[in-house]
Amino acid sequence: RNFVDISDVTLSYGGEGGGVLAVEDLTMSVREGEFAAVVGPSGCGKSTLMKLTTGLVVPQKGRITVDGNRVKGPLDIVGMAFQNPSLLPWRRTLQNIMLPLEIVSPHAERLRKNKAEYVARAEAMLELVGLGGFGPRYPWQLSGGMQQRANLCRALIHEPGLLMLDEPFGALDAFTREELWGVIRDLHQKKKFTVVLVTHDLREAVYLADRVFVMSARPGKVVLERKIDFERPRP
Ligand code: ADP
Ligand code: ADP
Repeated sequence: RNFVDISDVTLSYGGEGGGVLAVEDLTMSVREGEFAAVVGPSGCGKSTLMKLTTGLVVPQKGRITVDGNRVKGPLDIVGMAFQNPSLLPWRRTLQNIMLPLEIVSPHAERLRKNKAEYVARAEAMLELVGLGGFGPRYPWQLSGGMQQRANLCRALIHEPGLLMLDEPFGALDAFTREELWGVIRDLHQKKKFTVVLVTHDLREAVYLADRVFVMSARPGKVVLERKIDFERPRP
């Protein structure tokens, strides 16, 4: 079963015709539970694909569905994390990762009635990514790698069916990056959500993903798709 379906999507910034043609006739599908990676050179439209799938921009042509729902704006079943964790500096880590619960229904109503249950869930989530006990710290008291771990918790706390990742490890040093590869792979195996990871790092893509899509630039489209089915070493 396909979880993400992108079919013949064209997006031009600044309107059809005169603007910048970022992606043209882009078609790709990701199966339920799959870890997909999209790679390509800078400017090929990876971030645009991310914005389209999360409903932040709307295509001029084509259709995008997630779990059968037409994407016309942000969907509650989609979690996202970007290169910059952008945690709110005035909120403690625990309050930061609980943010989606305050916004996404049906959690928002339940959170008001049963806060303790959700605090426990958030603490368990921090534990899972190796941040047990760090909930009371402010984001600026965490290292870059720890902030990105918290960022992943925030993207997953409302248990979305789809996790969209845009260069989430790009700003980290090589050692921390590979540590985080282990974290995301463990999360994916435990929680069984679908992932689309956008990256310019082919090594990262092949290491993490079950399926890799390669995009070409100007205009962006998928030129190659490969299922990765060889054994990979565990981190
Ligand atoms: P990537 O993430 O692969 O680097 P992007 O999706 O950011 O690629 O960009 C694809 C193309 O669209 C590039 O040519 C870029 O300059 C252009 N572009 C991206 N965002 C905008 C925007 N808001 N307005 C105009 N052009 C844009
Ligand atoms: P990335 O390669 O990670 O997409 P960029 O530096 O290409 O990073 O883009 C950063 C942001 O600037 C993106 O949100 C993108 O949409 C926007 N952007 C990129 N190119 C343009 C452009 N030509 N005009 C306006 N905005 C742009």
